[in-house]
Amino acid sequence: MMRIEQLVELRATLRECPRPLGLVPTMGNLHAGHVELARRARETSATVVTTIFVNPTQFGPNEDFDRYPRTLERDEEALASVGTDIVFAPSVDEVYPDGRDTPTRVSVDALADTLCGLDRPGHFDGVATVVTKLFNIVQPELAFFGEKDWQQLTIIRRLAYDLDVPLEIIGVPTVRADDGLALSSRNQYLSEEERARAPKLYQTIEAIRIGLAAGRRDFDSLIARGASELADAGFDVDYVAIRDARTLAEASPETHEFRILAAAQLGGARLIDNVGHRAG
Ligand code: AMP
Repeated sequence: MMRIEQLVELRATLRECPRPLGLVPTMGNLHAGHVELARRARETSATVVTTIFVNPTQFGPNEDFDRYPRTLERDEEALASVGTDIVFAPSVDEVYPDGRDTPTRVSVDALADTLCGLDRPGHFDGVATVVTKLFNIVQPELAFFGEKDWQQLTIIRRLAYDLDVPLEIIGVPTVRADDGLALSSRNQYLSEEERARAPKLYQTIEAIRIGLAAGRRDFDSLIARGASELADAGFDVDYVAIRDARTLAEASPETHEFRILAAAQLGGARLIDNVGHRAG
C-alpha cells in the first residue's frame, strides 16, 4: 500500500494502474463503516484508492474542523487489512492551491436546501465540490459512499448524473454497533452515559419504518411522536423526516420508496441516521 500526498504523483501513479479503479472518499479516523466501503471496493476494483482528507469547505464556522480527529497511521493499518492499494492523503493547500474560496462551486440546490442543509448552510456545496474534484483527480470507474449519509449519497448520485461523470456510484449499507447505533467518527464525542442513550435515534426511525411497513401513512403523527420521544430522551432534535428516498421530497401516500431520516444533537455530538422502506 502506498501513501501519496501530491497530486502530480497520484496522477502519474494512476496512469499505470489496472482498471477498474474504485475510489473510497473519507475524512479519515476510520471505523468499521469506512473499512466496509474499502472492502466492497476491493471486491470489485483492480485498483482501490482511498482518500483521507478533512475537507475544510464542508465545515461551518462553529463546527468541529479543528478538533476533527486525525489518525492517519492507524487509518492506514485498517486499510492495509482490507487491501487498499493507494491512500491519497493530500494537504489542504494541495487540494485548494488558490485558497478555499474557489470561484467555481458545485451546488445541488434542490437536494441540499433541506434536512441537514438547513442546519448546516453551505455544507453540501463543500461536499459536492470536493467530491467532484476527487472524481476528476482520480477518474475512477466506481466510487463507494455510505448510506449512513443518505442525503450526501443522493446529492452525489445526482451531480454525477447531471454532470455526466462517467462512473458508477455504489451505496454501501450502514454499519452499526451491536446496539444499533450507526458507527460514526463523531460518536467519540459522546460521554459514556450519552453513548448508552444514543441508540434511541436508530430505535426511533426503526419504529417509524415498522409503522410504514404496517401500512400507516399518517406521516405527521409518526414524525411528531418520534421527535417527542427523542426530546424526552434528552436529544436536541434537528429533524425527524419521512421522505421520498430519491428526490428527498416529503412523503405522500403515493410514495413507494421511503427514507426515514433523523438528526439530533446529543451532548457534544451531532448524530444522524436513516433507514429505508419500500412499499410492496
Ligand atoms: P466520512 O469520513 O464521515 O466523510 O465518511 C466517509 C464515507 O464513509 C462516507 O461515504 C460515509 O457515508 C461512509 N460511512 C461513514 N459511516 C458509515 C457507516 N457507519 N456505515 C457505512 N458507511 C459509513
